[in-house]
Amino acid sequence: MNKPLMKEMHTFGEQKENQSSPSKKPTPPKPQNAITIAVSSRALFNMDREQDIYEQQGMEDYLKYQIQHEIEPFAPGPAFPFIKAVEAVNTRLRELYPDSEELFDVVLMTSNHAHVGLRLINSINHYQLFIERFCMTGGNSLIGYLKAYHANLYLSADSLKVREAIEEGIAAATVFSPGKITEVQETQLRVAFDGDAVLFSDESERIYKAHGLAKFFEHEKAHENKPLDHGPLKGFLEALGKLQQKFYAKGQRLDCPIRTYLVTARSAASSGTRALKTLRSWGLEIDEALFLAGAPKGPMLEKIRPHIFFDDQMFHVEGAAELGTVAAHVPYGIAQKFQSKTARDVKKEMPAKQLE
Ligand SMILES: [Mg+2]
Repeated sequence: MNKPLMKEMHTFGEQKENQSSPSKKPTPPKPQNAITIAVSSRALFNMDREQDIYEQQGMEDYLKYQIQHEIEPFAPGPAFPFIKAVEAVNTRLRELYPDSEELFDVVLMTSNHAHVGLRLINSINHYQLFIERFCMTGGNSLIGYLKAYHANLYLSADSLKVREAIEEGIAAATVFSPGKITEVQETQLRVAFDGDAVLFSDESERIYKAHGLAKFFEHEKAHENKPLDHGPLKGFLEALGKLQQKFYAKGQRLDCPIRTYLVTARSAASSGTRALKTLRSWGLEIDEALFLAGAPKGPMLEKIRPHIFFDDQMFHVEGAAELGTVAAHVPYGIAQKFQSKTARDVKKEMPAKQLE
């Protein structure tokens, strides 16, 4: 249904000599060595106004507007502070390991027209983001591209694309703009994860949904020593852990520019043990584990001030966003069936085509 708007354009490292940067930029790492974060243009930048024009006036007016405003950078979008923090981590990694390619690499994924591509490049240069790789899918399915780039994480504003990625086993989340702006750290990347159906599978969540809280506690106690299966974001936590180890190896554990948080509705005494033992069985460390025992997550996240928080349940995502946290929805597991808005409902409400 979505015909390609233009031929695909991939910018790999080899084409770097076309860059006209005054200072010498470092070479981007090879995709197989890097922790690759694929981000859609509408997640990275605020394109609400443009999206409105597209929906109300159509494609031609939309393109005309984009061209007229080509030299005007887009305002930052919900994933912007996260990408900035990722780049700050890279700066530290390059100082410690000048020859290593174990770095973050950011790929901009967009289904937009090439005319909009120019405005995106201008915006990237304006904010001095180090994004060398562009993937203009022209409306084609992006799964193949995400796999080719070995994407460790895909962030998008389009829930259908995110769902498609999750179904293909790619760590992915839909990002939402917070209700208010909270200042976040610029020198330490903070990532907060929910446990069940995000880092872990939804096996315990299923018990809870089917049999209630008492049975869930009983089940978790009985299976305390049996690690939970992995969830969609486990691989990303693992990737963050790999980079953290590089700082620890240089004696920078206390000054590590990456910090991870588990923010779960589980309670410590009754069901927290299994979560912690699971992480340990995977050989993964989490810097802080917060067991909220059903208390709302928003106020805790407001204190932590992560650059991004991942949860599989929309009410936690909404609760976090209301209090100023950039929250991302991971459409995975049993909870999706219980959500007030399923992807199918969302699809009905959405315009025929989302420009990403
Ligand atoms: Mg959950």
